[in-house]
Amino acid sequence: MSEDDQPLLDLAFADGAIEFVADDAQGNRPRPVRVVDHSLQPSQANIAAFWSKVVKSPTCWYWVGAISAPDGYGRFNFQRGNRQRTMLAHRFSVELEHGPLEAGVVCEHKCNEPLCVRVGPAHLVQSTHSENVRYAIALGRLSGHALLDGQGRTRYERSLAIREALRDGYDEQALLRAKTDPGQWQQTLF
Ligand SMILES: [Zn+2]
Repeated sequence: MSEDDQPLLDLAFADGAIEFVADDAQGNRPRPVRVVDHSLQPSQANIAAFWSKVVKSPTCWYWVGAISAPDGYGRFNFQRGNRQRTMLAHRFSVELEHGPLEAGVVCEHKCNEPLCVRVGPAHLVQSTHSENVRYAIALGRLSGHALLDGQGRTRYERSLAIREALRDGYDEQALLRAKTDPGQWQQTLF
C-alpha cells in the first residue's frame, strides 16, 4: 500500500486553534463584535446555508464554500445573534449526523477527498481510539510532501481547482479535469 492509498485523516486544527482576522477593509466604522463560541449549535438557517455550499456527485458530496489553507479542507462559519463559530465543513457535517464531537475525536475521509462532507462508511467517519497512532503518524507527514497531491499541487490548490470545477453545479468532466490535470486549471486562472 503506497502512502497515497492511505485514508485521509483529519489533520486540521481543533476549532479552538482557529484565529479570526478582523476585516477592516469596509471602512473605519467599528463593526459589531461577534463572540466566538466553540459550542454554538447551528440554527435551521445555518444548516440550510451549509447545504447551499455543497455540490453532490454520485459519490462524494463536495464543499464549495470557503477553503482553509494549507490543508485544503472546507471551512464553514455560522452566526447566531452576536455569536459565531467556524468549523471544518466535514466536522460540521459529522456533527449534524452524530451530534457534537467529543474532544479529540478525529474524522477520517475514507474517500481521500478533503472537501467531501458526506457522512458514511465509504466517505466520512469518526475514527476510533485505535486510530490515534495513525493520526500521529499522519500529523508528521503533514510537515512534508503530504501536502502535495500526485500532480505536485498543494492540497489547498487541488481543493480550489475542484471548487472552481463545480461552481455551476456537478460537472463530471470538469471535476475529473480538476482532479487530474492541474495544467488545465492554471490556464483558466491566467
Ligand atoms: Zn467522499
